[in-house]
Amino acid sequence: MAQIIIRNVRKEFGSFTAVQSSSFTVEDGEFFMLLGPSGCGKTTTLRMIAGLELPTSGEIFIGGEEVGQKPASERDIAFVFQMFALYPHMNVRRNISYPLVSQGMGKAEVRKRVDEVARILGIESIIDRPVGGLSGGDRQRVALGRAIVRDPKCFLMDEPLGALDAEFREHMAEELRALHDRMGATTIYVTHDQLEAMQMGDKIVVMNHGVVEQFGTPQAIYDWPATMFVADFIGSPPMNFLRFDGTAAEAATSLTLGDAAIAMPALRSGASGSLALGVRPEHVHLSDAAPYKGRIIATEYLGTTQIVTFDTANGELKARIPSGAHANVGETTGLDFDARTLTVFDVKSGSALR
Ligand code: ATP
Repeated sequence: MAQIIIRNVRKEFGSFTAVQSSSFTVEDGEFFMLLGPSGCGKTTTLRMIAGLELPTSGEIFIGGEEVGQKPASERDIAFVFQMFALYPHMNVRRNISYPLVSQGMGKAEVRKRVDEVARILGIESIIDRPVGGLSGGDRQRVALGRAIVRDPKCFLMDEPLGALDAEFREHMAEELRALHDRMGATTIYVTHDQLEAMQMGDKIVVMNHGVVEQFGTPQAIYDWPATMFVADFIGSPPMNFLRFDGTAAEAATSLTLGDAAIAMPALRSGASGSLALGVRPEHVHLSDAAPYKGRIIATEYLGTTQIVTFDTANGELKARIPSGAHANVGETTGLDFDARTLTVFDVKSGSALR
């Protein structure tokens, strides 16, 4: 079992707090994403799990054991960095064997394990070649081979595909995910790329300024963002925010949301003040009959869909609609929203009302 529990973990560097008290749980065998913008504390969090950095306070459990203050060598994990440190003059077999040989494992056992890893990664045919002359992708596979050959309880990966170009990156992401599904080891993966996180992760932690903003499945985070930061960081284009001053019920009325909205606890909550109604672009519908109006100020063709930008009484709004649908700049049209897909935010705290 390699369940990983982060409980109230905090990291200070002098007077600077890189990670505020953070808590989340990575279940055994999960592919788990640490997502957030540059400098939000992802790497520091990962390094604390690895034991390369010790938390200022809080606890870290790996497989039920509290390891927060233990050194990296006493945690059964493999760390895969962005810049894979391979030995270019050695061949593939020796590179992959290295961690086993340095543990003192017998020759026959090393050979067997390396052959198995080469088979999993599909690199049997290059096993005797020096890594110096390999393509980027093969080198990446060798580096992965070196990480998985020890068969650790869990893998920690810090932007492992960051140096690759977009097309190859996508391909390696699929390979990595497939490899994980075959091996089943708990994996924590750091990325600032929300699409990568959504596509690869079983669960995602979204961090910002050292704070865990939300933790959940990609779908839960996309559909029910806990904060305006998450709503804005996830999705492309991001969630729209229609601004209102008053009560949530008044906001629902001015959007003419109708009966469905009445069922939403956030709209019935009596909350008032500066509110934002969050709506994803694919949940905005153009409907001539709808009384809530918007004026089209831009359209962007994206192949099968188009992004239409509206000016409304409550701010700018983007809709994703089929590219064949009628939408011309300068026209005013009615807008419909499915109330069940809306998230209501308190602008002051940035938190979603539920
Ligand atoms: P990136 O994607 O840019 O690597 P990140 O989310 O991984 O960002 P961290 O590397 O964890 O962020 O850094 C979080 C903050 O902590 C940054 O402001 C960074 O400058 C600071 N920091 C990290 N390590 C140290 C250190 N050893 N001493 C002082 N400050 C540090």
